[in-house]
Parts: sequence; structure tokens; C-alpha cells
Amino acid sequence: MTETTRRDEIAAGLARVEADIASACRAVGRTREELTLIAVSKTYPASDVRLLAALGVTDVGENRDQEACVKARECADLDLTWHFIGQLQTNKVRSVVRYADVVHSVDRSRLVTALSGEAVRAGRTITCLVQVALDDDPARGGARPAEVAPLADVLAEAPGLRLGGVMAVAPLGEEPGRAFARLREIAQVVRTDHPEAGVISAGMSGDLAEAVANGATHLRVGTALLGRRKPFVR
Ligand SMILES: *Cc1c(COP(=O)(O)O)cnc(C)c1O
Repeated sequence: MTETTRRDEIAAGLARVEADIASACRAVGRTREELTLIAVSKTYPASDVRLLAALGVTDVGENRDQEACVKARECADLDLTWHFIGQLQTNKVRSVVRYADVVHSVDRSRLVTALSGEAVRAGRTITCLVQVALDDDPARGGARPAEVAPLADVLAEAPGLRLGGVMAVAPLGEEPGRAFARLREIAQVVRTDHPEAGVISAGMSGDLAEAVANGATHLRVGTALLGRRKPFVR
């Protein structure tokens, strides 16, 4: 496919997503300015990230270090904000802190220790979100709701890190609005002790309206912008 065609395709996806965000905002009396759209570019090439940047989308989300670190390097000349949104192994932390501005998937204190050490070593400040498990599936990552406030306290004290707020993925098989309502309550608890931690990262292609209705500040949208991903092959 030529770049022009791909540009048109992505522009059309972006227009649809912006229309969805606008109507979700209108439905609950919020404004677009309250929301940051993160383009989840996993499995898509750096050339797509360039096209998105040219269309004004400068927040990019990736979930695997191996792929993300190469793409971030290829796009180093653009002024982008990189969000790491996938489960994070401690042995990948050194690489991730080199390019990630925000890590959405902090779910254990060992990870805080590793991120803090590497952020200090790299001379960077990384914004971190506590990922909340809204169901009981450990495979999907996230801290249990009761663990979130103590983990937020640890994060807030860690050198090189800044506590940004919370993140979650809506569980399969539950109405996303109900799950995001729980996330919003947890976010409020965190904000009681950490007023600066205002980020609620929630909402993907299929449930962004429910996320907007429940106070999301950041939407992580892949499919609706860039198309359906090929089945994941490791
Ligand atoms: C892939 C991914 C997304 C984007 O999902 P879409 O349904 O393609 O919009 C959002 N958040 C996380 C954590 C992801 O891994």
C-alpha cells in the first residue's frame, strides 16, 4: 500500500475515533481537552507512528519492549510521548526507561524498585501509573484493589519516578462501565493522599465511551485508529 493511501486510512480512523470521543464527552458533559488520546501502535510500523504524528497524535502506546525500543529509536526525531502499557518484566526495565515517558503497568513493589533505580541511573523522571486488576485473572496483570494505595505510596516516594495515577483494562465478560466505575473509586482513594495523581488510563477501541463516562483522562486506542492487528506471533 502506498503511504498516501495509508495516510488516508489512518486519517479516517482518527476522524472516527475523534467523533466517538466527542459524542462520549457530549453525553456526560465533559470536554475533549480533559482527555489524552494515546495511539497504540503495537504490531504496526514506525511509518504509521510518523503518519499519526503528522496528523497531530503525539502520544504513542506500546506493550512489548522488544518492539517498542526499536520504534522509539526510529522516531527519535519526532517529539513524541511514549507510553509503555504492557506487562513489564524487571529485566526489561533498563531498556524501557530509556524511551518511555509513562509506564502504565506498575503492579508490584519490586517493579517500583527496579524502575526507580534505572530511572535515576538514566537521569530521567518516569511517570508511573498503578495498574489495577479489576478481575481475578492474574495473567492480565495489575495490583488487587486493596494493594493499590500502599503501592501508590511506595511509588510516590521513589526517586526518579512520579506517581501519575491509575490504569486498568476492563475485564472480559463484565459491562465495562461497571468496571470503570470501580476504577474511578480507586483513583479517588489514591488522590486523597496524592492530589497530583490525576491520571485515569482506561478505555480502548471497544469501550472508550464507558471510560469517558467514568472519568478517564487517557484513552489507549489501537484497532479503531490503525486497523485490526494480525494474530500475535511470538
Ligand atoms: C493493545 C492494547 C490496547 C489497545 O486496544 P484496542 O482494542 O486495539 O484499541 C489498550 N491497552 C492495552 C493495555 C493494550 O495492550
